[in-house]
Amino acid sequence: MKAFANQNARSVEEAVTLAQQSLQGGQSVSFVGGGTDLLQLMKDRVVNRPGSELPDVLVNLKTVGGLDQVTPSAQGGATIGGMITLDALSQNALVRDRFRVLAEAAESVASPQIRKAGTLAGNVCQRPWCWYFRNGFQCYKAGGSVCYSVRGENQLHAIFGGGPSYIVNPSDVAPALVALDASFRVVGPEGERTLSAADFFVLPRQDAEHENVLADDEVLASVELPAPGSGMRSAFHKEMDREAWTHALASAAVVLDMDGGVVRSARIVLGGVAPIPWRVPEAEALLAGNRVTPELARAVGAAAVAGARAMSKNAYKIPLARSVVERTVLTLATSA
Ligand SMILES: Cc1cc2nc3c(=O)[nH]c(=O)nc-3n(C[C@H](O)[C@H](O)[C@H](O)COP(=O)(O)OP(=O)(O)OC[C@H]3O[C@@H](n4cnc5c(N)ncnc54)[C@H](O)[C@@H]3O)c2cc1C
Repeated sequence: MKAFANQNARSVEEAVTLAQQSLQGGQSVSFVGGGTDLLQLMKDRVVNRPGSELPDVLVNLKTVGGLDQVTPSAQGGATIGGMITLDALSQNALVRDRFRVLAEAAESVASPQIRKAGTLAGNVCQRPWCWYFRNGFQCYKAGGSVCYSVRGENQLHAIFGGGPSYIVNPSDVAPALVALDASFRVVGPEGERTLSAADFFVLPRQDAEHENVLADDEVLASVELPAPGSGMRSAFHKEMDREAWTHALASAAVVLDMDGGVVRSARIVLGGVAPIPWRVPEAEALLAGNRVTPELARAVGAAAVAGARAMSKNAYKIPLARSVVERTVLTLATSA
C-alpha cells in the first residue's frame, strides 16, 4: 500500500483547509470517515478520485467533534452528523421512531463490523462496487472511456439511467434519504451550501467519472431531515444474492403519508438498480388518494419498473425490483 500522511481535522472548516493546502501543494487528498471503503481501494491501488493519484494525504473526519450526533429540530425534523456510524444511526431512538426507513436501510448495510466503523457520509459517498472498476480496469469511473459491463459481466449493473457507465449506486442509505426528502449540508472553501439529496447524486451522462457533485475539497458535513407528517410511515426492503454482508440487487425505500387508510402522497425510491437512487414518480402517482389493495400494490410495482431496460445478463432485476416495491408498499400501507 502506498504510504500516506494522516491529518486529524478538529472541525469541518479545518478539514477543508487541510485538503486545500494539500491540493495547492500538489498532493492528492481524500477525506476519510470509517475508512472501510477508502482503505480497501487504496490497498487495491484503485484511485479514489478520478484524475488524481492514490491519495498522499488522508484528512480524517472522525476527529471532528459533534459530527456523530442526531439533533432533533424544534419543528420535528432532525440533523444528523455525517460521521455517525451506521450502527449508531440504525439504533438511534429518534431515527427509528420518526424516520424508520433510514434506520432500516442503515441496519441492512453489510455486516455488524462494517456498520460499527462505516459512517453515514462515507456510505453515501462510497465508490461503485463494479468488479471492473474495483479490479483496475480503465473504465469511465477510473478516468477511462469504456464501460466494460456493456459487453461483459453485467449481472449487477443498471436497469435504469445507465450510459455511458452502467454502475449502480451501492449505498443502502441513499434511497432512504431521497425518499425522506433529506437535504445535504456541504462545506467547501467558499463556505457551505445545502442541496437536496436528490440533487447530490449525478448520472453518468452528466458526469461519467463522479457519482455526486462534491469537489475534491468539499465535505458532506450533515444531513437534514424535514419533519414527518402525523400520518407518515416508512420502510426499506432489500433483495440480496445471500442473506447478509452484501449490496442490494434491488431495494425499495418507501415513504407514505397516510390519512387513515388512504394514501395522501408517496415517495418511492429504488436502490441497486441505477447509478443514482432512482425515484419512480409514475408509481407514486398511482397511490395518491387511494386505499392500498393487493391489486393496487401490484400495479404500483409494475409502474415502478415500466421504464427499466435490461442489459444482457441482468433482466432478473426487473421482476425483483417490481416485487420489492409491491411488497414494501402493501406491507407498509396495511400494517397497523
Ligand atoms: C464486504 C462489504 C460489504 C458491503 N455491503 C454494503 C451494503 O450492503 N450496503 C451498503 O450500503 N454498503 C455496503 N458496503 C460499503 C460500506 O457500507 C462502506 O464501506 C461504508 O459505508 C463506507 O463508510 P466509511 O465511513 O468507512 O467511508 P470511507 O471508506 O471513509 O469513505 C468512503 C468514500 O467517501 C468519501 N468520504 C467519506 N466521508 C466523507 C465526507 N464526510 N465528505 C466527503 N467525502 C467523504 C471518502 O473519500 C471515500 O471516497 C460494503 C462494504 C464491504 C467492504
